[in-house]
Amino acid sequence: MSGEFDVIQRYFSQTKGQLSNNPYVKLGVADDCAIFQTTAGKQIATSKDLLIEGRHFFSDVDPYALGHKALAVNLSDLAAMGAKPIACLLGLALPSVDEKWLSAFSSGFYALADKYHCPLIGGDTTRSEHGITLSVTVFGEVQPPYLMRNQAQIGDIVWVSGVLGAAHTALELLFLEKQGVTLSAEQGILLEQTRAALEYPEPRLALGQSLVGIAHAALDISDGFLQDFGHIVKQSQVSAIIEEYRLPVHAALESLSWASKRTAVLTGGDVYELCFTAPAQRSAEVLALSQQLGIPLTAVGHIVAPQASQFEVDVIDADGKSVVFPRGGFDHFATE
Ligand code: ADP
Ligand code: MG
Repeated sequence: MSGEFDVIQRYFSQTKGQLSNNPYVKLGVADDCAIFQTTAGKQIATSKDLLIEGRHFFSDVDPYALGHKALAVNLSDLAAMGAKPIACLLGLALPSVDEKWLSAFSSGFYALADKYHCPLIGGDTTRSEHGITLSVTVFGEVQPPYLMRNQAQIGDIVWVSGVLGAAHTALELLFLEKQGVTLSAEQGILLEQTRAALEYPEPRLALGQSLVGIAHAALDISDGFLQDFGHIVKQSQVSAIIEEYRLPVHAALESLSWASKRTAVLTGGDVYELCFTAPAQRSAEVLALSQQLGIPLTAVGHIVAPQASQFEVDVIDADGKSVVFPRGGFDHFATE
């Protein structure tokens, strides 16, 4: 077997059996379109991410991890809006049919789809000239107030979920390896301790849904804390002060220099934690959520009034001095 329809049948039709109890999906992989319905009075949140071999993932990445991540990064967008997943679509361009790769990839994808009740209900499969390209579209259900980027208010506390810096550190070490550098024993351990953060990000869906009605603004951190939080600040037309020593650092980064930690934590991408702002009087509720969900939630700064229509993030150190950074985060079209 190797045809397009065999691939779909064999690797991407598993959802069929799981749809009997699904309240949303009326028709999955089968026809020209999939069909789903939503709960009366609710709205659809949708998002798409594109992943290209060599740009977003290494050619030799574990395909199971890639299947997980392709869906996880999209579910993270739903989480950032406070949406509940309904279903997803998968577009796949492959240079050839590699059964082992497809089997592992689809297993990783389905494991996460099952975990968060987000069945794969359709997609497209085609041959590419070079390399693998993946695109996942997710659909979720929301009801106002959504967690938007433009709702931060002066006086809000800025929060971040989980711990930061591990994915960036793993990526730097993998880049070194790709360049032919032999990692030291210490670097090897560091890679082992940080790799899961890069390859198996966990979408913060329960947290996002719980923050509706508590948080004013939210987003998920994909391109780096500073750059992404900058979107909240600009779109909300406010400024912010971030106390860098409060930022939650992944334990494995403990032995790194403060400069390395700072770069990893403030500018490192691929994080998929939520950054949100909430009124100071809701802090006890945020901390209670942290306990209830077992997710660290850390207050890292606050929203202030903008000066002369400049919407800026001021990062300060423990002495209250502003910290200056060479770059803010990842930008695919950056010219430098
Ligand atoms: P069409 O030619 O009408 O676009 P296809 O023959 O491409 O339909 O697809 C047949 C069925 O398989 C459709 O239901 C489509 O959504 C589904 N499908 C195709 N590729 C994938 C995929 N990678 N993942 C999930 N479903 C897929
Ligand atoms: Mg098609």
